[in-house]
Amino acid sequence: MHELSLMTAAMEQVQALAQRNGATRIHRIRMRVGALSGVVPEALEFAFETLKSGTPAAEATLEIERVPAIFHCAGCGKDLPLESVEFDCPECGGPLTLAGGGRELELADMEIS
Ligand SMILES: [Zn+2]
Repeated sequence: MHELSLMTAAMEQVQALAQRNGATRIHRIRMRVGALSGVVPEALEFAFETLKSGTPAAEATLEIERVPAIFHCAGCGKDLPLESVEFDCPECGGPLTLAGGGRELELADMEIS
């Protein structure tokens, strides 16, 4: 399970950061997950629930911020944020090309004490 190893790495990062800041408890973790990152947010949440017990994050909540990918339409010239890969513009049917974003998988923020 891909998400389990990703979450293991994220938890290590969070705990290292907490330790460096002299914190003993982690209350909240926020992650940014791009629409094209190949990561299933629900699987990430499940991995978090599995991994957090017995750690300083045992009582923590995980928030996942979904980041859309931006597609550019050659037909109407619009930039459209989309949650999945589309080939035709939903507005004019023109061809879409990926303009950026959507591949994020990162720790955005955390609350510790
Ligand atoms: Zn269009």
